[in-house]
Amino acid sequence: MPRLSAEFLTGDAVDTPYWWEAAKPSPASLDEFPARAEVAIVGAGFTGLNAAIVLARAGKQVHVFEAEAPGFGASSRNGGLLGPGWAFFDGAVKQYGLDVARRVLEESAEALEHVKQTVTRENIECDLKVVGYFKGAISPRAYDKLGHMIDRISKAAACDAYMVPRVEQHAEIGTDLYHGGVVMPGYAGLHPAKYVKGLADAATRLGVKIHSNARVSDLSSTINGFRFKVNGRDMTASQVLLATNGFSGTVSPYLKRRIMPIGSGIIATEPLPPEVMDRLMPKRRMLAGSQRVVTYYRPSPDGTRIVFGGRVLDMSGKEKINVANARYLRSLLLQVFPELESTKISHYWHGLLGFTFDHFPHVKNIDGVFFAGAYNGTGVARASWLGKKVAHQMLGLPEGKTVYSDLKFSGRPYFNGTSWFLPIAVRYYGLLDKWEKR
Ligand SMILES: Cc1cc2nc3c(=O)[nH]c(=O)nc-3n(C[C@H](O)[C@H](O)[C@H](O)COP(=O)(O)OP(=O)(O)OC[C@H]3O[C@@H](n4cnc5c(N)ncnc54)[C@H](O)[C@@H]3O)c2cc1C
Repeated sequence: MPRLSAEFLTGDAVDTPYWWEAAKPSPASLDEFPARAEVAIVGAGFTGLNAAIVLARAGKQVHVFEAEAPGFGASSRNGGLLGPGWAFFDGAVKQYGLDVARRVLEESAEALEHVKQTVTRENIECDLKVVGYFKGAISPRAYDKLGHMIDRISKAAACDAYMVPRVEQHAEIGTDLYHGGVVMPGYAGLHPAKYVKGLADAATRLGVKIHSNARVSDLSSTINGFRFKVNGRDMTASQVLLATNGFSGTVSPYLKRRIMPIGSGIIATEPLPPEVMDRLMPKRRMLAGSQRVVTYYRPSPDGTRIVFGGRVLDMSGKEKINVANARYLRSLLLQVFPELESTKISHYWHGLLGFTFDHFPHVKNIDGVFFAGAYNGTGVARASWLGKKVAHQMLGLPEGKTVYSDLKFSGRPYFNGTSWFLPIAVRYYGLLDKWEKR
């Protein structure tokens, strides 16, 4: 396992996800690729595997092609936070109107329910727990803004979020960084690598063939379906689903012009004494700050460590860069919890998010090829939900209707797959955050 070394890291620090200690993505047994598949799914993450389960239950013969191992993408690397999606309300109203915004909220709630039901039905042990979420306001103005947002949402939908003033904040989180914040009680946390492994096992039990180390390329349509290559070998399928999200690369020129791959990194601390965890995270909630340059964090499912994530720009994977990214994330962690100065970091890892210009996911039929993805950094519940929705669309069922098929999926003339403007945007939003904090 690749090791990292620096004075703030444990002696055995690694650059692989903490989650992989319990559930490392491992190659599925290599069945021979058939020459033809009824349904081919590209990508074995939350989207592809949820779709595979629905399609297999409907009697389809499903092959999932994964360039690495099942769950290797964002699905085994994320923070494992899943919530009611209220953060998307204002953006939806602004771009698409109140009706669409209501549907976004409705589907966010349904997505959360879908994950709970799937975990129960498929008997997946993934530490799923409704623990609530606290978002800290970085300034008094940010606190007011959060309060107004909750007021607007409450007028449009049932909303049990409530504000916590600064004087009561230590009941939620042991920091003085924030000026109060908002609690969203229905929020949940899970162990993402266990969840995605459980999905892969469930799909396999239903007869789905998952092929690892199987990279799909050269996708084109034929008279009665699609032709593509898997590791250079020709294959055909009647239906194809692209479930590649931020890892889409060049698999589709259409997606390349519309999905911005953006990096997110996470560190995990060494185990902390229970009394420290009780003080810093007394309710063991999911947590975040209100900054534009996002930070999100949580206790590990066993409650012993802090898992802390934020934006990272260089994902080249070089040891020097990984150490620099870990150092940067640790500096953000110390802004929240200065008392962790002498705590060491045991894991650093990163993964790719798929962003869009409207900041919403999309479910599309692109000249016959189905696509669901672009979760804009919030995909644990939504990828699971839209995997199910797109599968229903592939089956021609009315249940496949989703608001995310009705939104305009646009690119920009200056964008062709490389998020070259990201460093400028992160610096700009960082400056706005600093300004707001002052
Ligand atoms: C560091 C990080 C933290 C995050 N934290 C959260 C969080 O706390 N809460 C939340 O809701 N969301 C979070 N997310 C987002 C969430 O993880 C994703 O939205 C979700 O996992 C997307 O699932 P997916 O199945 O669509 O894509 P992925 O899990 O990324 O799977 C796509 C797969 O496609 C494969 N692939 C790509 N191209 C090909 C090809 N040509 N052939 C074959 N296979 C291919 C890739 O190898 C990959 O495994 C986070 C993401 C990251 C990276």
